[in-house]
Amino acid sequence: MAAKNPRGTRAYRQAVANLKAKGDAYCWRGCGTWLYANAPYGHPQFMTLGHLVAIEDGGHATDPSNHRPECVPCNMGDGARRTNRKRNGQTTTSYRSPFL
Ligand SMILES: [Zn+2]
Repeated sequence: MAAKNPRGTRAYRQAVANLKAKGDAYCWRGCGTWLYANAPYGHPQFMTLGHLVAIEDGGHATDPSNHRPECVPCNMGDGARRTNRKRNGQTTTSYRSPFL
């Protein structure tokens, strides 16, 4: 199930843990949202693992140098845009929520 998706793997979970271990931070996309590393899922300032270079664009999924704290709206917005773009073009890739 979703074998090609790097999200949900042990390495990915570890990457999230490493990111949150660095503490609270602003969403890297510059939306101005201050994210709490310890906020529970569903919190408006819940921190997700964002990628400087998207995995879909060849960015490394689990390399810490490619990781940035990202808010849910930015993360999901980017995912939706990419999914839509894929629908218009190449084969679709299943896109799961990064924090499930
Ligand atoms: Zn954001």
